Amino acid sequence: MSKHNFSAGPSILRNEVIKSASDAIIELNNSGLSLIEISHRSKDFVEIMNKARLLALELLNLENKGYKALFLQGGASLQFLMTAYNLLDKKAGYLNTGSWSTKAIKEAKLFGKIIEVASSKDKNFNYVPKDYIVDPQLDYLHITTNNTIFGTQIKKLPETNVPLVADMSSDILSRNIDFSKFDLIYAGAQKNIGPAGTTLVVVKEDILGKVNRNIPSMLDYRIHIEKDSMFNTPPVFAIYTSMLTLEWIKNSGGINSIEANNSKKADMIYNEIDSNELFEGFAAVEDRSSMNATFNLKNASHKEIFDKMCKDADISGVNGHRSVGGYRASIYNALDISSVNILIDIMKELKNKV
Ligand SMILES: *Cc1c(COP(=O)(O)O)cnc(C)c1O
Repeated sequence: MSKHNFSAGPSILRNEVIKSASDAIIELNNSGLSLIEISHRSKDFVEIMNKARLLALELLNLENKGYKALFLQGGASLQFLMTAYNLLDKKAGYLNTGSWSTKAIKEAKLFGKIIEVASSKDKNFNYVPKDYIVDPQLDYLHITTNNTIFGTQIKKLPETNVPLVADMSSDILSRNIDFSKFDLIYAGAQKNIGPAGTTLVVVKEDILGKVNRNIPSMLDYRIHIEKDSMFNTPPVFAIYTSMLTLEWIKNSGGINSIEANNSKKADMIYNEIDSNELFEGFAAVEDRSSMNATFNLKNASHKEIFDKMCKDADISGVNGHRSVGGYRASIYNALDISSVNILIDIMKELKNKV
């Protein structure tokens, strides 16, 4: 696409992914049929689904370790309650690091006792709490690894023996951490994987089936596993496009090379925020996200001119979330370094214009 897309979500996809996805809408694999008019039970689509699930496990280094990958619907927001429905028997712990964590807590409260192990709400979620205590009796601990709105990211995983559940919607596949520390990971596709419409869930099978309640089929991970993620008609377009992104990551050298590129982009943008006297960062330095850089103009009267400069440079999607204000540059996996360079040039150039 021709603009520099810094949107927080739905967000940038690789041009080659968009091109291949468009081709498949017109005609899938010389089949004489469009991707979006074939049966999800057809050989062509079953292969796509299996490949996407396998690639997800492979890239996370979770193959043959008791995990299953699913592509479900309902967004990360449905996972807020589905995780609790399937895993919360008595009490669970939640680390509250932002709006999404807060929403996850609200839903989970319908299923049992919730202990907020720590919260950064006191400072409008501009940092990640550390040094909190995790009760060993918890059914699980839920964390949000990257806080899309506030621009913070958990750098050091909590040390605990209770099952670890993570909302990784905005940093999945962006950095190499030990994914086997998690028992359940979920991520809405539309930040780092594909278009909206599907949610990647990676779950360790042996944590399921331990709660004392009946679970409706559509919300039961075990049913989705048993049906190979095709209990009902899956969102074929979203899954196909996600598969293309997963292939792109694999062909680019896997998570390690993606991470190296992401670190470069993040260093570049934070260096500019810190060295440019017209700007200031929002998130605590040690907790800064490598996916969403939040920053402000020190002088609000510069906003009009900076916004115009961004627009003239074809920079799109840098406005901050309404709860933080200012700016947010989302620098997801698919964004090229060249786009970050353009944004930095504008930030530097602002000094000559004010
Ligand atoms: C975007 C986002 C969500 C919400 O995802 P939906 O798919 O819209 O439900 C949840 N958590 C995080 C961390 C997000 O970035």
